[in-house]
Amino acid sequence: MERLQKVIAHAGIASRRKAEELIAEGRVKVNGKIVKEQGVKVSPSDKVEVDGIPVEREQPVYFLLYKPRGVLSAVSDDKGRQVVTDYFSEVEQRVYPVGRLDYDTSGLLILTNDGEFANLLMHPRNEVEKVYVAKVKGIPTKESLRTLQRGVKLEDGKTAPARAKVISADKKKQTAIIELVIHEGRNRQVRRMMEAIGHSVLKLKRERYGFLTLKGLSAGEGRELSAHEVKQLR
Ligand code: URA
Repeated sequence: MERLQKVIAHAGIASRRKAEELIAEGRVKVNGKIVKEQGVKVSPSDKVEVDGIPVEREQPVYFLLYKPRGVLSAVSDDKGRQVVTDYFSEVEQRVYPVGRLDYDTSGLLILTNDGEFANLLMHPRNEVEKVYVAKVKGIPTKESLRTLQRGVKLEDGKTAPARAKVISADKKKQTAIIELVIHEGRNRQVRRMMEAIGHSVLKLKRERYGFLTLKGLSAGEGRELSAHEVKQLR
C-alpha cells in the first residue's frame, strides 16, 4: 500500500506537495471516486486518475522462487553475498521477498512488488500452512514429536500446535529426516523448535507454502504466479 500523493509523485505528475493540492482540489480519483482526504493508501491494483487521466502504476508482479542454500532473503547485501532478487534482475519491477528464509535454508519463497499482498501474507491472522523438511541430528522419539505438536516454549513464547513426523531415520549416522508443518513465521522458528527438543537442524528446506509447492523447479529457478494463484492466496 502506498500513499496516494506518493503514487502521483512517483508517476512524475507532480511533487508530493503539489499532489496533495491536486487531491484537496478534488482532481484525483481512486477507482472512479474522487478522494479529497490526505493520507489515503492505495494498492497497486487500485486505479488512480488525475484530471481523468490514468496514472501509470508499476504493474504488480508475483513470483515463486526455489531459493538455494547460501542466498540471502534480501534485496541487497553490504557483504556482497548473493541475494534472492539477483534471480529477478531481468524483471522490470523492483520485487522483494515476502518474509525470509535463513541464508542456509532452501525452498519456497514468494517475491512481489505488491506491499499490500506481502503484508497480508505475513499477518499472523493469515495462517498459511508451511511445510518444512529438516535433516536433524539424532532420531526424535514419538514423545518429543508430541511436544512439538502441543507447542514448545521458545524465548518469544510458546509455539502454536504443529504437525511433525519422522520421514526416515539413519540409525548408523544418528540423523533423521523430519517433516514439520507450522502456521507461524517466527525468525528461525523450525531451527529453534527442533533445538528445543534436543535435535539441531543440519539442513532445512521449505517444501510448501499454503497450496504452493516447488513442483517442476530446481534450486535457483522461479516462476511467475498465475492470477488464479494470487487470488487464492489473498
Ligand atoms: N524456520 C527456520 O528455522 N528457518 C527458516 O529459514 C524458515 C523457518
